[in-house]
Amino acid sequence: SYRKGGYHAVRVGDPFAGGRYVAQKKLGWGQFSTVWLAYDTQTSKYVALKIQKSAALFAQAALHEIEVLSAIADGDPSNSRCVVQLMDHFKHVGPNGQHLCMVLEFLGDSLLRLIKYNRYKGLELNKVREICRCILVGLDYLHRELGIIHTDLKPENILLANTIDPAKDPIRSGASPILERPEGNPYTGVTMSLIEKKLKRRARRAAAKISGRRSSMGGAAPKPERSMEGIDVQCKIVDFGNTCWADKPVAEEIQTRQYRAPEVILQSGYSFSVDMWSFACTAFELATGDMMFAPKGGQGFGEDEDHLALMMELLGKIPRKIATGGARSKDFFDKYGDLKRIRRLKFWPLDQLLMDKYKFSETDAREFAEFLTPILDFAPEKRPTAQQCLQHPWLTMRKQSAHNETSNDSNVRTVEARVRSLQIKVGK
Ligand code: ADP
Ligand code: MG
Repeated sequence: SYRKGGYHAVRVGDPFAGGRYVAQKKLGWGQFSTVWLAYDTQTSKYVALKIQKSAALFAQAALHEIEVLSAIADGDPSNSRCVVQLMDHFKHVGPNGQHLCMVLEFLGDSLLRLIKYNRYKGLELNKVREICRCILVGLDYLHRELGIIHTDLKPENILLANTIDPAKDPIRSGASPILERPEGNPYTGVTMSLIEKKLKRRARRAAAKISGRRSSMGGAAPKPERSMEGIDVQCKIVDFGNTCWADKPVAEEIQTRQYRAPEVILQSGYSFSVDMWSFACTAFELATGDMMFAPKGGQGFGEDEDHLALMMELLGKIPRKIATGGARSKDFFDKYGDLKRIRRLKFWPLDQLLMDKYKFSETDAREFAEFLTPILDFAPEKRPTAQQCLQHPWLTMRKQSAHNETSNDSNVRTVEARVRSLQIKVGK
């Protein structure tokens, strides 16, 4: 992809925007861009530099993202609404063409990495609450004040905020920023490896703190619960490349598969509440370490039909009117609202699943299920809004970590897959 129209190849120490920003380290990449940690020589702060691929299609997507991010930043001058802040943007000409670049506030690890660091066991419920509150503040802002549907909400697109004072940034205190391209191989320079080690250590420490458990990288044993009081988990929604304005939805197929709402699969029209569906899937994943729905195609049926089956096994049957009301309904449902190819469903309600498979206490399971179930209503217009969710008692309660949250062994979540076999599905 590093060719004409593709990614811009960056080396450590490369200058951007007439030398204002200096590339330090690659942070990540997506289908459209590479993202670099850069040092802003004007403010003496670190920023994230998103460098888009150069072809016209990508440039157009970047212009859209810049437009959305500018609206987001304009409406949130105090940067307190849990959405990533755009600080600057410019064009950069390289051998592969002209690349649009976005300067974003530098954020930390994604929630996906947090779940991984925690060995897919799920975070402590109090932390899940705090993260959920942040995501909802962000969604409420996007939906109600800006009229934006994110359309790709998932753990990967929610990043932890760096709560560290930039002036005392541990990266800086250990190694000064690189201001020009180092001699020789830029990736093996001493400064670089120091920064990298510090970034990794910081990520591990943050993950261990937030999860309240031993980190998967062999960190120290979890500290007593008391020491975690007051750790302010803050996170921000990122990746506005696919967003749309609610009054002019563009794409028919939106969202990443596992976080996709039923009305998108059925093509019966969508609005803000698709983000709420993805939010509920994300909250479940944070609490359990497993995706809520991980559909797979099988013999005689596709991923979409399996996805609908999984939804119904957890949430009950889709009301006939909704099942048969979409442009694609006939692909999956007969006129009675039953799936055409997957005839036998194995119902496993959410609160029961949380108890049986994830060893939640009865109260924790019931309360969490009561919070999530209305957000997973098959009727999109019945789902609560982000603003309404923020009022829910589950978010404001703070529990003394009881039984299943503190002791290590009773806490091990089973990992076996859902037990519905393919035979059951195809009716053999
Ligand atoms: P794309 O539109 O190409 O998918 P994203 O905006 O999702 O790009 O960014 C790609 C990756 O770069 C993210 O998954 C994340 O790892 C990293 N990243 C993006 N924005 C930031 C940021 N503000 N701070 C730190 N890392 C970031
Ligand atoms: Mg992305």
